Amino acid sequence: MKSGDDIHIPKSHPRYKSLMYRQRLVRGIKEGYVSEAGLIAHGRGEAFDYLISEQTIKPAKEAEQVAIAAMLLSKNPVISVNGNVAALVPKEIVRLGSILNARIEINLFHRTLKREKLIEKILKENGAKEVFSGGMKKTRRLPGIDHPRGIVSEKGIFNADTVLVPLEDGDRTESLVAMGKLVIAIDLNPLSRTAQKASITIVDNIVRAIPNMIEFADEIGGWKKEKLKKLIENFDNKKNLNDVLLSYRSTYCRFDS
Ligand code: ATP
Repeated sequence: MKSGDDIHIPKSHPRYKSLMYRQRLVRGIKEGYVSEAGLIAHGRGEAFDYLISEQTIKPAKEAEQVAIAAMLLSKNPVISVNGNVAALVPKEIVRLGSILNARIEINLFHRTLKREKLIEKILKENGAKEVFSGGMKKTRRLPGIDHPRGIVSEKGIFNADTVLVPLEDGDRTESLVAMGKLVIAIDLNPLSRTAQKASITIVDNIVRAIPNMIEFADEIGGWKKEKLKKLIENFDNKKNLNDVLLSYRSTYCRFDS
């Protein structure tokens, strides 16, 4: 992981990785593209990550593979990016977008033009050729979202058939699903409205989920359409979320004895 952070964290620290990710967010705040509320959202994510021992659990792996199958079958997949995503996995998001031929669109809850521009710069520095956003000329409003984040680019999220929404809020997920889009969420909290409303929910930390998805894209990218469709047909999001909850029990039942 790159350094350049304000505090020195020794690699031997047992929580080295976690602290480095926190530092990335803190740096993002100082640079003006991560919102302060982004830290709170991250903290909620960290708490849920403990419940799965900060590892990708089996149901998440399954959802990651199905999500890639869905994106491979999509005509117009779009990846939605916010400040936390840009701070944590900018290179990986751009790589996933390029493998899947997916557009990347910035969508911010705490939206300012300045933050949008800063995130666009980061994504372009990491190899993105084109970055969409609500600040573009041709925009549309998502039905039922009065908030500024309801403004999306026409060529991006508005016309997408599949939208990957990492670290999302429930309202927008609901609106996108109501528009008939397939919505893939990455959310460590299986009980959030986003996790419950999405078509495919990946309960994993984004810092593990996106690299796993890149691997799956390489692995199943050459599969025939029928085989990809079968994967999706056999997937039940509600069952997958239940499996996540059961995995908490199996992790913590040792406290029972
Ligand atoms: P909802 O409106 O869907 O109920 P919320 O109000 O919890 O969601 P936010 O406060 O915007 O939504 O939080 C974003 C979500 O992102 C949280 O549920 C949190 O668990 C999750 N999250 C935060 N950081 C990560 C991360 N690194 N990887 C995956 N999920 C994360």
